Amino acid sequence: MDGATTPGTTPILILLGPPGAGKGTQARKLEERFGAIQLSTGDLLRAAVAAGTEAGQSADAVMKAGGLVSDEIVLEILTDRLAEGDCAKGVVLDGFPRTTAQAEALDAMLAEKGQGIRAVISLEVDDVAMVRRVAGRFTCGCCGEGYHDDFKPTAITGVCDGCGSRNMTRRADDNPETALSRLKAYAEQTAPLVAYYGARGTLKRVDAMGDIDSIETEISRIVEAA
Ligand code: ADP
Ligand code: ADP
Ligand code: ZN
Repeated sequence: MDGATTPGTTPILILLGPPGAGKGTQARKLEERFGAIQLSTGDLLRAAVAAGTEAGQSADAVMKAGGLVSDEIVLEILTDRLAEGDCAKGVVLDGFPRTTAQAEALDAMLAEKGQGIRAVISLEVDDVAMVRRVAGRFTCGCCGEGYHDDFKPTAITGVCDGCGSRNMTRRADDNPETALSRLKAYAEQTAPLVAYYGARGTLKRVDAMGDIDSIETEISRIVEAA
Protein backbone atom coordinates (compact mmCIF):
# COMPACT_ATOMS: atom_id res chain seq x y z
CA MET A 1 0.00 0.00 0.00
CA ASP A 2 1.18 3.57 -0.68
CA GLY A 3 2.64 5.13 2.45
CA ALA A 4 2.65 1.71 4.15
CA THR A 5 4.54 1.56 7.42
CA THR A 6 6.84 -0.84 9.19
CA PRO A 7 7.01 -0.39 12.96
CA GLY A 8 10.53 0.06 14.24
CA THR A 9 11.91 1.64 11.05
CA THR A 10 13.03 5.26 10.88
CA PRO A 11 9.94 7.17 11.87
CA ILE A 12 8.56 9.60 9.34
CA LEU A 13 5.70 11.46 10.93
CA ILE A 14 3.55 14.17 9.38
CA LEU A 15 1.62 16.80 11.33
CA LEU A 16 -1.21 18.31 9.33
CA GLY A 17 -3.35 21.18 10.54
CA PRO A 18 -4.26 24.82 9.99
CA PRO A 19 -2.08 27.68 11.25
CA GLY A 20 -2.10 27.67 15.05
CA ALA A 21 -3.27 24.07 15.38
CA GLY A 22 -0.18 23.25 17.46
CA LYS A 23 2.01 21.51 14.84
CA GLY A 24 5.23 23.21 15.95
CA THR A 25 4.47 22.73 19.66
CA GLN A 26 3.76 19.02 19.24
CA ALA A 27 6.62 18.48 16.76
CA ARG A 28 9.12 19.67 19.38
CA LYS A 29 7.67 17.20 21.86
CA LEU A 30 7.87 14.33 19.34
CA GLU A 31 11.45 15.33 18.64
CA GLU A 32 12.30 14.95 22.34
CA ARG A 33 10.34 11.75 22.84
CA PHE A 34 11.21 9.83 19.66
CA GLY A 35 14.56 11.40 18.75
CA ALA A 36 13.27 12.42 15.31
CA ILE A 37 14.21 15.77 13.79
CA GLN A 38 11.51 18.45 13.51
CA LEU A 39 11.41 19.80 9.96
CA SER A 40 9.25 22.88 9.62
CA THR A 41 9.09 24.18 6.06
CA GLY A 42 7.87 27.49 7.55
CA ASP A 43 11.10 27.73 9.62
CA LEU A 44 13.23 26.71 6.63
CA LEU A 45 11.53 29.36 4.47
CA ARG A 46 11.89 32.07 7.16
CA ALA A 47 15.61 31.21 7.38
CA ALA A 48 15.89 31.52 3.58
CA VAL A 49 14.13 34.91 3.71
CA ALA A 50 16.47 36.10 6.50
CA ALA A 51 19.52 34.87 4.58
CA GLY A 52 18.31 36.70 1.45
CA THR A 53 18.75 33.65 -0.82
CA GLU A 54 17.06 33.63 -4.22
CA ALA A 55 14.38 31.24 -2.91
CA GLY A 56 13.91 33.41 0.18
CA GLN A 57 13.47 36.54 -1.92
CA SER A 58 10.69 35.03 -3.98
CA ALA A 59 9.00 33.45 -0.93
CA ASP A 60 8.95 36.64 1.14
CA ALA A 61 6.00 38.47 -0.44
CA VAL A 62 3.87 35.31 -0.66
CA MET A 63 4.43 34.55 3.03
CA LYS A 64 3.61 38.14 4.05
CA ALA A 65 0.33 37.86 2.13
CA GLY A 66 -0.54 34.52 3.75
CA GLY A 67 -0.42 32.50 0.51
CA LEU A 68 1.46 29.28 -0.19
CA VAL A 69 4.99 29.40 -1.55
CA SER A 70 5.44 27.50 -4.85
CA ASP A 71 5.81 23.71 -4.68
CA GLU A 72 9.08 24.04 -6.57
CA ILE A 73 10.76 26.25 -3.95
CA VAL A 74 9.39 24.30 -0.98
CA LEU A 75 10.45 20.94 -2.44
CA GLU A 76 13.93 22.21 -3.20
CA ILE A 77 14.41 23.53 0.34
CA LEU A 78 12.97 20.39 1.94
CA THR A 79 14.97 17.96 -0.24
CA ASP A 80 18.21 19.75 0.64
CA ARG A 81 17.42 19.57 4.35
CA LEU A 82 16.37 15.90 4.20
CA ALA A 83 19.71 15.04 2.62
CA GLU A 84 21.56 16.14 5.79
CA GLY A 85 22.82 13.28 7.95
CA ASP A 86 20.80 14.00 11.11
CA CYS A 87 17.53 13.25 9.27
CA ALA A 88 18.49 9.57 9.16
CA LYS A 89 17.15 9.29 12.74
CA GLY A 90 13.68 10.09 11.47
CA VAL A 91 11.75 13.30 10.89
CA VAL A 92 8.60 15.02 12.02
CA LEU A 93 7.30 17.03 9.09
CA ASP A 94 5.60 20.16 10.42
CA GLY A 95 3.77 22.17 7.79
CA PHE A 96 4.68 19.90 4.87
CA PRO A 97 3.09 18.67 2.65
CA ARG A 98 0.60 21.46 2.09
CA THR A 99 -0.58 20.59 -1.43
CA THR A 100 -1.42 17.36 -3.24
CA ALA A 101 1.60 17.92 -5.51
CA GLN A 102 3.87 18.09 -2.44
CA ALA A 103 2.34 14.90 -1.00
CA GLU A 104 2.89 13.09 -4.30
CA ALA A 105 6.48 14.32 -4.50
CA LEU A 106 7.08 13.08 -0.94
CA ASP A 107 5.60 9.66 -1.78
CA ALA A 108 7.92 9.42 -4.80
CA MET A 109 10.95 10.47 -2.73
CA LEU A 110 10.20 7.91 -0.01
CA ALA A 111 9.45 5.13 -2.50
CA GLU A 112 12.89 5.66 -4.02
CA LYS A 113 14.49 5.20 -0.59
CA GLY A 114 12.23 2.27 0.35
CA GLN A 115 10.79 4.22 3.29
CA GLY A 116 7.22 4.65 4.43
CA ILE A 117 5.24 7.17 6.44
CA ARG A 118 4.63 5.92 9.97
CA ALA A 119 1.68 8.20 10.76
CA VAL A 120 -0.06 11.33 9.50
CA ILE A 121 -1.69 13.18 12.36
CA SER A 122 -4.34 15.76 11.55
CA LEU A 123 -4.67 18.35 14.35
CA GLU A 124 -8.20 19.71 14.24
CA VAL A 125 -9.13 23.11 15.71
CA ASP A 126 -11.92 25.56 15.00
CA ASP A 127 -11.32 28.89 13.19
CA VAL A 128 -11.83 31.08 16.27
CA ALA A 129 -9.22 29.14 18.28
CA MET A 130 -6.81 29.25 15.36
CA VAL A 131 -6.97 33.06 15.09
CA ARG A 132 -6.52 33.44 18.89
CA ARG A 133 -3.59 31.05 18.89
CA VAL A 134 -1.65 32.81 16.15
CA ALA A 135 -2.48 36.28 17.53
CA GLY A 136 -0.86 35.46 20.90
CA ARG A 137 2.08 33.40 19.61
CA PHE A 138 5.70 34.32 20.34
CA THR A 139 8.92 32.33 20.10
CA CYS A 140 12.33 32.35 21.73
CA GLY A 141 14.79 33.59 19.11
CA CYS A 142 17.60 31.60 20.76
CA CYS A 143 16.28 28.08 21.41
CA GLY A 144 13.07 28.17 19.33
CA GLU A 145 10.69 27.33 22.19
CA GLY A 146 7.14 28.50 21.41
CA TYR A 147 4.91 30.44 23.82
CA HIS A 148 1.49 32.08 23.95
CA ASP A 149 0.37 35.26 25.76
CA ASP A 150 -2.63 33.51 27.36
CA PHE A 151 -2.19 29.75 26.88
CA LYS A 152 1.54 29.24 27.47
CA PRO A 153 3.13 32.31 29.04
CA THR A 154 6.75 32.33 30.22
CA ALA A 155 7.24 31.97 34.00
CA ILE A 156 9.02 35.37 34.08
CA THR A 157 7.64 37.92 31.63
CA GLY A 158 9.89 38.23 28.58
CA VAL A 159 12.37 35.54 29.67
CA CYS A 160 12.53 32.09 28.00
CA ASP A 161 11.87 29.28 30.52
CA GLY A 162 14.17 26.95 28.58
CA CYS A 163 17.31 29.00 27.92
CA GLY A 164 16.89 32.26 29.83
CA SER A 165 17.10 34.44 26.71
CA ARG A 166 15.15 37.71 26.47
CA ASN A 167 15.22 37.57 22.67
CA MET A 168 11.52 36.87 22.02
CA THR A 169 10.21 37.18 18.46
CA ARG A 170 6.76 37.51 16.89
CA ARG A 171 6.07 36.52 13.29
CA ALA A 172 5.10 39.26 10.83
CA ASP A 173 2.33 37.03 9.43
CA ASP A 174 0.71 36.37 12.85
CA ASN A 175 -1.86 39.16 12.55
CA PRO A 176 -5.63 38.62 12.22
CA GLU A 177 -5.84 39.68 8.52
CA THR A 178 -3.01 37.45 7.28
CA ALA A 179 -4.22 34.64 9.53
CA LEU A 180 -7.51 34.62 7.63
CA SER A 181 -5.70 34.37 4.27
CA ARG A 182 -3.62 31.49 5.66
CA LEU A 183 -6.76 29.77 6.88
CA LYS A 184 -8.26 30.13 3.40
CA ALA A 185 -5.10 28.66 1.83
CA TYR A 186 -5.36 25.75 4.26
CA ALA A 187 -9.01 25.08 3.45
CA GLU A 188 -8.48 25.24 -0.32
CA GLN A 189 -5.06 23.64 -0.81
CA THR A 190 -4.13 21.62 2.29
CA ALA A 191 -7.39 20.22 3.71
CA PRO A 192 -7.73 17.82 0.70
CA LEU A 193 -4.68 15.99 2.12
CA VAL A 194 -6.84 14.66 4.95
CA ALA A 195 -8.71 12.60 2.34
CA TYR A 196 -5.47 11.82 0.48
CA TYR A 197 -3.88 10.18 3.54
CA GLY A 198 -7.21 8.84 4.77
CA ALA A 199 -7.42 6.77 1.59
CA ARG A 200 -3.94 5.36 2.28
CA GLY A 201 -4.77 4.29 5.83
CA THR A 202 -2.06 6.41 7.48
CA LEU A 203 -4.29 9.21 8.83
CA LYS A 204 -5.21 9.76 12.48
CA ARG A 205 -7.44 12.65 13.46
CA VAL A 206 -6.78 14.37 16.79
CA ASP A 207 -9.05 16.89 18.47
CA ALA A 208 -6.55 19.72 19.03
CA MET A 209 -8.88 21.97 21.06
CA GLY A 210 -7.67 20.51 24.38
CA ASP A 211 -4.60 21.42 26.40
CA ILE A 212 -1.06 20.90 25.11
CA ASP A 213 -0.19 18.02 27.47
CA SER A 214 -3.26 15.91 26.79
CA ILE A 215 -2.80 16.31 23.04
CA GLU A 216 0.84 15.24 23.44
CA THR A 217 -0.29 12.11 25.31
CA GLU A 218 -2.76 11.22 22.56
CA ILE A 219 -0.24 11.77 19.75
CA SER A 220 2.43 9.71 21.54
CA ARG A 221 -0.03 6.86 21.93
CA ILE A 222 -0.81 7.00 18.21
CA VAL A 223 2.87 7.01 17.22
CA GLU A 224 3.72 4.14 19.54
CA ALA A 225 0.86 2.06 18.15
CA ALA A 226 1.61 2.87 14.49
P1 ADP B 1 1.77 28.01 10.40
O1 ADP B 1 2.39 28.10 11.73
O2 ADP B 1 0.79 29.05 10.09
O3 ADP B 1 1.25 26.67 10.04
P2 ADP B 1 4.28 27.89 8.91
O4 ADP B 1 5.40 28.41 9.74
O5 ADP B 1 4.18 26.43 8.72
O6 ADP B 1 2.93 28.49 9.44
O7 ADP B 1 4.32 28.57 7.47
C1 ADP B 1 4.40 29.97 7.31
C2 ADP B 1 4.24 30.31 5.84
O8 ADP B 1 5.30 29.68 5.10
C3 ADP B 1 2.96 29.82 5.20
O9 ADP B 1 1.88 30.74 5.37
C4 ADP B 1 3.38 29.70 3.73
O10 ADP B 1 3.45 30.98 3.11
C5 ADP B 1 4.82 29.20 3.84
N1 ADP B 1 4.91 27.72 3.85
C6 ADP B 1 5.33 26.93 4.87
N2 ADP B 1 5.31 25.64 4.52
C7 ADP B 1 4.86 25.60 3.23
C8 ADP B 1 4.60 24.54 2.31
N3 ADP B 1 4.79 23.25 2.62
N4 ADP B 1 4.13 24.90 1.08
C9 ADP B 1 3.93 26.18 0.73
N5 ADP B 1 4.15 27.22 1.56
C10 ADP B 1 4.61 26.95 2.80
P1 ADP C 1 1.31 25.74 14.35
O1 ADP C 1 2.75 25.26 14.26
O2 ADP C 1 0.33 24.67 14.00
O3 ADP C 1 1.08 27.01 13.61
P2 ADP C 1 2.01 26.36 17.14
O4 ADP C 1 2.49 25.07 17.71
O5 ADP C 1 2.99 27.40 16.84
O6 ADP C 1 1.04 26.07 15.89
O7 ADP C 1 0.90 26.93 18.17
C1 ADP C 1 0.29 28.20 17.94
C2 ADP C 1 0.20 28.96 19.26
O8 ADP C 1 -0.77 28.31 20.10
C3 ADP C 1 1.50 29.01 20.07
O9 ADP C 1 1.55 30.25 20.72
C4 ADP C 1 1.35 27.85 21.08
O10 ADP C 1 2.04 28.13 22.30
C5 ADP C 1 -0.16 27.80 21.30
N1 ADP C 1 -0.70 26.46 21.45
C6 ADP C 1 -0.26 25.30 20.87
N2 ADP C 1 -1.04 24.25 21.23
C7 ADP C 1 -2.01 24.75 22.06
C8 ADP C 1 -3.11 24.19 22.78
N3 ADP C 1 -3.40 22.88 22.70
N4 ADP C 1 -3.88 25.00 23.52
C9 ADP C 1 -3.61 26.33 23.60
N5 ADP C 1 -2.58 26.93 22.95
C10 ADP C 1 -1.78 26.16 22.19
ZN1 ZN D 1 14.90 29.92 24.73
